[in-house]
Amino acid sequence: MLDKCELCPRKCGTDRISGKTGYCGAGIQAQVFRFGPHFGEEPPISGSKGSGTVFFSRCTMRCIYCQNFNWSQNDSGKKYDKDGLSGILEHLKAEGCHNWNLVSPTPWLPMIEEAADAVRKKGHILPFVYNTSGFERPESLERYKSLADIYLTDLRYAKSSSAAEGSDAPIYVETARVALKKMWDLTGAIETDDAGIAVHGTICRILVLPGRADEAIDNLRWIAKDIGTDISLSLMAQYHPVYKARDINGWDQRVQADEYRKVCDVMNDLGFENGWIQEWEAEVDRDMAGFHMKEGAGPVKKLKTTGD
Ligand code: SF4
Repeated sequence: MLDKCELCPRKCGTDRISGKTGYCGAGIQAQVFRFGPHFGEEPPISGSKGSGTVFFSRCTMRCIYCQNFNWSQNDSGKKYDKDGLSGILEHLKAEGCHNWNLVSPTPWLPMIEEAADAVRKKGHILPFVYNTSGFERPESLERYKSLADIYLTDLRYAKSSSAAEGSDAPIYVETARVALKKMWDLTGAIETDDAGIAVHGTICRILVLPGRADEAIDNLRWIAKDIGTDISLSLMAQYHPVYKARDINGWDQRVQADEYRKVCDVMNDLGFENGWIQEWEAEVDRDMAGFHMKEGAGPVKKLKTTGD
């Protein structure tokens, strides 16, 4: 896999075994910036005990507004071998977390699979949450489906010009749509246990970007037509102009309330009933989901969950 890496849609073909690093900057040893119980995901993912989140270093995207840029695009994080990664998973289970939440796992899938196999052999099992920008190859999703009981995926752009400008990924739109279909085929609608904790299925996050509400709406229409309205959606308003976006015209502002409401209205009009929208008034709730790891920093408001 790693002597000619084509794990992600970049397919840059880098020989990582020889010590080279590809477009994403990933080398031969898995790199993790931080791990721990996380209470800022959607309710059935965070639950009451937290989602056992592993923030992997490196990323296949180059988002100019990345809130995690310090480890996704810079060389931050500690390197772990198989035993080290297994140790992280075991630690999160011992902490009582509901799941193993792999954030940006794509460049590290072979290493994670090895570690997961070792942990499972010891009888330690939790659902895996595959937490991704959506920029994925269906072939990799198929190959590593054992690391994805639940997909927590984005659909961010509907125009290749925006994807190129925002994430250096002009092929994002088609790629992420094909990937979402694949995830949906593999898992289907969210299923929860008796306590309301997700055990299986797909949640799609729609990140509303400033001045680009029309793209979020375009994606909602595409989902309704090509996937259906049973999928759980998380409509996110917390875009924050950090990192390079602070100095780039059009990306240097927050999403306006009327933009967000417009997208909410279309979501309701299209008949989506499962998922979450954010409470606009609560400014703290708009802050950087996936960044703050303290209890109570949940970004989402329950609209209606599957099974209600
Ligand atoms: S995961 Fe990294 S090294 Fe592999 S194809 Fe993608 S960008 Fe290249």
